[in-house]
Amino acid sequence: MQFSTIYGHQETKQLLLNSVTSQHVAHAQLFLGAEGGANLALALAYAQYLNCEDPQPQDSCGVCPSCTKISKRIHPDLNFVMPVTKVKDSEALSKNFVPQWRTFLADSPYQTLNDWMQYIGAENKQGTIPVGESRELVRMTSLKAFEAKYKVIVIWLPELMNISAANALLKLLEEPPAATVFLLVSNGSDKIMPTILSRTQLVKVRAFTDAEVIRYLQEQQGVEEERAYQVAQLAEGNLQAARVLSREMTSDYFTFFLSWMRLCYNHKFDAVLEQSEDFQKLGRENQKNFLQFALSLLRKVLLFGVDNQLITFLPAPELDFVQKFAKLIHQGNGAQLAQELNEAHYHIERNAHPKITFLNTSIQIAQLIRPVA
Ligand SMILES: [Zn+2]
Repeated sequence: MQFSTIYGHQETKQLLLNSVTSQHVAHAQLFLGAEGGANLALALAYAQYLNCEDPQPQDSCGVCPSCTKISKRIHPDLNFVMPVTKVKDSEALSKNFVPQWRTFLADSPYQTLNDWMQYIGAENKQGTIPVGESRELVRMTSLKAFEAKYKVIVIWLPELMNISAANALLKLLEEPPAATVFLLVSNGSDKIMPTILSRTQLVKVRAFTDAEVIRYLQEQQGVEEERAYQVAQLAEGNLQAARVLSREMTSDYFTFFLSWMRLCYNHKFDAVLEQSEDFQKLGRENQKNFLQFALSLLRKVLLFGVDNQLITFLPAPELDFVQKFAKLIHQGNGAQLAQELNEAHYHIERNAHPKITFLNTSIQIAQLIRPVA
């Protein structure tokens, strides 16, 4: 993949490009960032740039034989180590999952460990990078690069390495094989051995911004603007969560929330009863997502009360709502409202009756936001 296909992250891309043009490619680098972020995608684009036969100032050429093979993950000098588990008869080693790994990455490089485990049919089993991977690492690095400038070894989620495998990696990092680059792609460095960490160069990858998530959803997933805004507010920079949410979200949360608050404010409980039927029809996942959305909007209302400069990226109708709703929210009821929504979410998650939960929450909210007499 090319850098240009990854939204935003210009500062990190430039850092990586500079390392190549100034010939300061560290032999071990740690792409550290939260789940659903750009760290794996950036490592893949970097691997492609490192070996591109006609590199451009800002990106790999995308068409040379090396780029073509790397983008299809079929280059003999591009190796992967990732957490796996024993599925049917195949031994739990990365090399036995290469075909699945290729299609998984082709689907999206923003997916999470959980997605990967589902993808290989591991069900509820835990994924690890097992001891057997030690000899694979030695095998990978013992031969010179077949055709590329650099042999690249991408280790996805090194925090899940078995201790023996981690020690094998450490040994390789201590005496690095020539023209070999290790790209460690991690969601959390606290479970990686400090001795490994101290031998890697850190590439910190921030989460996606709301604006980047919105653009991605609109341009890559065909999600309409208003819905993309709503999804971005829930996804909190996690592109994989955004992909899933945009598929799950079956109704317009904002319109639903707006009418709910109006009914509560005016104490129209007959209409609230009708709306509880619609809430029930949403289904559990959507009910939870809706409540999360309501909480996220409430947070914006509370922030607006503190400093309206803190509110970024709200479509006009939502901004209008936030401004009006902010007049009803004050120190005395803001935290309680959030608590009511949190509790509703908690009950729905534990299979409470959705209609009753909705009605109870409505009564509480109606009391909290009633006009001051
Ligand atoms: Zn190329």
